Amino acid sequence: MSALKRFFVEKIEEITSLSGEEFEHAKNVLRLGVGAEVILLDNSGKEYTAVVSAVEKKQMLLSIVREEVGEREANAEVALLFGYLKNADKNEFIVQKAVELGVKKIGVFSSEFSSAYMNANKLERLNKVAKEASKQCLRATAPEIVYYPTLQDALCSVADFEHKLFACEFAQKSEKSVSDLSKSGGRVALVVGSEGGFSREEAERAKELGFSHISLGKRILRAETAGIALTSIVMFALGELGGVT
Ligand code: SAM
Repeated sequence: MSALKRFFVEKIEEITSLSGEEFEHAKNVLRLGVGAEVILLDNSGKEYTAVVSAVEKKQMLLSIVREEVGEREANAEVALLFGYLKNADKNEFIVQKAVELGVKKIGVFSSEFSSAYMNANKLERLNKVAKEASKQCLRATAPEIVYYPTLQDALCSVADFEHKLFACEFAQKSEKSVSDLSKSGGRVALVVGSEGGFSREEAERAKELGFSHISLGKRILRAETAGIALTSIVMFALGELGGVT
C-alpha cells in the first residue's frame, strides 16, 4: 500500500485546516474527500495522522487521529551552504538532493564570482522544492532555505558548528579527515562555491573563520556535483546512508 499522502500545515489543532496550494492539490489533484486519511506535518518533527472531516470552498478540515515522531530524520546535524547558481534547475537539484540526504540547514549565498542574483520568488520556489523533496523521502521536516547576501554572512551563520568544511578546488589536500567526523560528533557545515568558485581571499577568509579546506580530488567538479558529492561523503561518514560495507 502506498504511503499516505503528506501535507505541510501552518498549525496543528484538534481540527486542523488545510488551505492554500496544499488544499488545492489535495482537493483538485488527489481528489481527497471526507474520510480520507493523510499525514499532516508542521515541521516539528512529528507526523500527525488525520482524517478529512469536511471539504469547504477554500479549505479542508481534518481531525487528528494520532501523532508519532518522524523516524527518518538524520541524527547528525549537517548544514549545506552553496553559491547561488545561474541555472535555476541546478539550484533546485542541489536543494532536492540535500533534503533527501538528510541535511538540516540549507543556505544559498552570493559571493565574489557569483553571476546570478536571488529574489523573493526564487527563494520561495526553493523552499517549495525543499518541502516537496521532504514529503517524497518521507521526512517529517523540511529545512528552510535561507539566502545570505554575502559569503561572510553565510560562513558566520554556522560559526558555532564543530566542523566546518570549505570545498576548494585549489586546496592542495584536505585539511580535515571526513572519516574522523563520526568519531568526534558535533554539527558539520559544508560550503561549496558557485560556477565561478571562490577567490583566494575568500578561501583565506574562510580559514580565518575556522573552516578547513577540503579537496574533492584533482578534477574540477560542477558546483552541483561538488555539493552532492561532499554531502554524500559526509553523510556516509556519519552513518546516515546505511552501513554499505
Ligand atoms: N573555480 C573553478 C574553475 O576555475 O573552474 C570552478 C568552481 S567549481 C565549478 C564550483 C565549486 O565546486 C567550487 O567553488 C568548489 O567549492 C567545488 N569544487 C569543484 N571541484 C572541486 C575539487 N576538485 N575539490 C574541491 N572542491 C571542488
